[in-house]
Amino acid sequence: MVLRIAVQAKGRLFDDTMSLLHETGIKLESAKRLLLVSATNFPLEVLFLRDDDIPQSVADGIADIGIVGENEFAEKRKRASIVKRLGFSKCRLSLAIPKGMDYPGIHWFDGKTIATTYPKVLGDFLKENKINADIHVITGSVEIAPSIGLADAIFDLVSSGSTLVTNHLKEVEVVMKSEAVLIQHPDLSAEKAAILEELLFRIESVLLADDKKYILMNVPTENISKIVEVLPGMKSPTVLSLAKEGWSSLHAVISEKEFWNIIGKLKALDAEGILVVPIEKMIL
Ligand code: ATP
Ligand code: MG
Repeated sequence: MVLRIAVQAKGRLFDDTMSLLHETGIKLESAKRLLLVSATNFPLEVLFLRDDDIPQSVADGIADIGIVGENEFAEKRKRASIVKRLGFSKCRLSLAIPKGMDYPGIHWFDGKTIATTYPKVLGDFLKENKINADIHVITGSVEIAPSIGLADAIFDLVSSGSTLVTNHLKEVEVVMKSEAVLIQHPDLSAEKAAILEELLFRIESVLLADDKKYILMNVPTENISKIVEVLPGMKSPTVLSLAKEGWSSLHAVISEKEFWNIIGKLKALDAEGILVVPIEKMIL
């Protein structure tokens, strides 16, 4: 019995998806670009598809699970469920209008034409907000629609916003935040569910370690309790005594985000020789 996962064959999800699988220790049979590739050391096979086809293939059971952008999953409305948010390919689905326009609020969109590749997500949002607008579905280069007179506004994916700037547009409403998600077929057999559980355990260990760093530093022994107060969320750091009298080595796990906030405080407490090293996997 193997579990089949559908992933994007090429595009913005591909690299992070493949490195996530790699970090779970799963090795794939062939580096060649085949449609279906088996893992050599885990009961998994990988089916490479266009991202548009992933929700459907998981709903139909052609694949048991899949990795896809939440935006795509939300638009496709297929019978599958989100098992895990994966934290990469973060972006948002937003409404944007020409830069020079005044934007008094959402009612600006009443009577306007909006170009998008996400008509269902947009339709729901407009309905919820009681806005009457025309949705113009186009499949590519949505961002140029206003400048060529095809639409008054767009509803599209935004990450850095640079595409909007290039096209003289401004983001006025964020409708949905998106990231890559792991989705599953609604009724997996018990055997497949067990494989998924093992895979999820590995994925969670990788994700948990992702923004975490292992920090080592030399500290005056008398300052240890103050330093422990500075380290966020630490139950009990490791303390080793150094050969040098009155000094200890302190080891802890911190999240990358917290690092720059606490580094000044650590230095103020005379911590020295601070080393920050990546953690590959973490099991709680
Ligand atoms: P396919 O050929 O598979 O249909 P595509 O062109 O539809 O690919 P991509 O552009 O590769 O799709 O984007 C795939 C997904 O990556 C999007 O649905 C979205 O979830 C996410 N994404 C898109 N743009 C960005 C971005 N700039 N930064 C991060 N993630 C993004
Ligand atoms: Mg696509």
